[in-house]
Amino acid sequence: MSQSTNPTTQFQTDANRVTADVDRRSFLRSSLRGYQKTRTATQERFLSYESARIAAGDAKWEAIENLDVYLAQFADKLESRGATVHWCSDSEEARSAILEIIKKHDAKSVIKSKCMTTEEIHLNELLEKEGFEVVESDLGEFIVQLRDEAPYHFVFPAMHLKKEEINTLFQEKLKSINTDDPEELTMVAREVLRQKYLSADIGISGANFGVAETGMISITENEGNARLTTALPKVHIALMGIEKIIPRLEDLALMLPMLATAGTGQHLTCYNSQLGGPRQDDESDGPLEMHVVLLDNHRTRLLADPEQRDALRCIRCGACLNVCPIFKNVGGHTYGTTYQGPIGSVITPHLRGLKDWKHLSHSSSLCGACSETCPVKIDLHHHLLRNRRDAAGKGQGGLAEKVLMLGFTIVMRRPWLYRLTGRLGKIGHVLTKPIHGTRIDPFYAWKKTRDLDDPAKQSFKQYWKSRK
Ligand code: SF4
Repeated sequence: MSQSTNPTTQFQTDANRVTADVDRRSFLRSSLRGYQKTRTATQERFLSYESARIAAGDAKWEAIENLDVYLAQFADKLESRGATVHWCSDSEEARSAILEIIKKHDAKSVIKSKCMTTEEIHLNELLEKEGFEVVESDLGEFIVQLRDEAPYHFVFPAMHLKKEEINTLFQEKLKSINTDDPEELTMVAREVLRQKYLSADIGISGANFGVAETGMISITENEGNARLTTALPKVHIALMGIEKIIPRLEDLALMLPMLATAGTGQHLTCYNSQLGGPRQDDESDGPLEMHVVLLDNHRTRLLADPEQRDALRCIRCGACLNVCPIFKNVGGHTYGTTYQGPIGSVITPHLRGLKDWKHLSHSSSLCGACSETCPVKIDLHHHLLRNRRDAAGKGQGGLAEKVLMLGFTIVMRRPWLYRLTGRLGKIGHVLTKPIHGTRIDPFYAWKKTRDLDDPAKQSFKQYWKSRK
């Protein structure tokens, strides 16, 4: 793969490469078809899934609108049970805070459970550079770590890989037996990971939710790896974006099934843990120290945007990726971001700057499938339009886009010109038909990947007139 430092060019290069891989695309589509079937069946078991979406969205709204209050309550409760809370305004501060804790304990090895927020701050790269052994304990994350790749999807990190490829990888990296039986492959990984849990000095996790009322983080998973990561090492560090707060414990009763249904099509994920501090005097196990690192990293910039702050309600279920026609075709790595798909395209320009990431707003057909599926009702496709508008308003569009929009404005303001353009378009279509999509076609750049139907014999206006 050619590497470009410009995210827009890189996106285009990677999208062209991935969309040409028809076999991989059909593999992804068939995996997602299975997910969609199970998810729909699970949704039907709700008395009213729509009412549940509204209630979940409202609970997250309440948290986002009172973030200062709920975050303070959450931190106070945690600290009252002996946990240490670190407030970090950006990734640099979070990285330093975590590194300091690890160094203070003279640690050698770190075990991690799946946490996209650590991907966001590039924690693994830092720790490995500092000489620590870092092992991902989630099976999908473990696989992509062995391949030295970023997660493909923030819920299913290795969804792009076939079992035969994982077999080859395990044989190469773990000297495992030759098998493409999923259960046997899981056992191979499990054997390696069990030893790592026992020897790790530090366990790092994320948090799916932070419950303000009880001061507990909630972690949801299917493999049990997060439980071992947070319980066995003597120090547990949880990294959590500040938007993960929910007001009350009872909100979890709704959030956990919503996350499972939308994310994986399950009624509930297999393991749901609430952790509210280090080992207490009357407890016999658990970490001796617990640190919760609260990360802003431009989330407050999004909070300050009255139009788009509802994107902070996201519970990272990944459902919008699973239904997105663009994600299914260009794949997760093409986005070049921690959060892929529609939600990634909405928030990345806020988190990393509109100028470099505005192209993501165009990686959408605006079909609205994402907004329709979102369990907390985020208006995703309209946010993509708003990002396009903001980029254009700041003069960040390319020259071609500006010229095109200027031409469009001139034509649309003059009915006679609009009619003339329509007629010329028809003539142009007929004349260029024999050279459609070839290099001598004046619209080659646009038409090389598009088929163009013949225009209707009669325009709508002509039809309307003919009806008298
Ligand atoms: S935007 Fe909605 S659908 Fe997409 S990951 Fe977030 S909660 Fe799920």
